[in-house]
Amino acid sequence: MKKSYYVNKVAQYNGDHEVHLEACPKFPKPENRLYLGAFDTCLEAVREAKKFYTQSNGCIHCVQPCHTS
Ligand SMILES: [Zn+2]
Repeated sequence: MKKSYYVNKVAQYNGDHEVHLEACPKFPKPENRLYLGAFDTCLEAVREAKKFYTQSNGCIHCVQPCHTS
């Protein structure tokens, strides 16, 4: 099932732009998020996010399988 993914326009302290799902407790404010699209896997979502921000990473809370530290 496809899910909608978003990337945070604001980088974390380490430079990562986190990719989120809507249900996330850390979901960015409307002005700080960019809609990426609906994807079957978080890998596709992170790949899409990297077109905008080279340093994109899955959120540790909602996209844990695609989070790398
Ligand atoms: Zn998240």
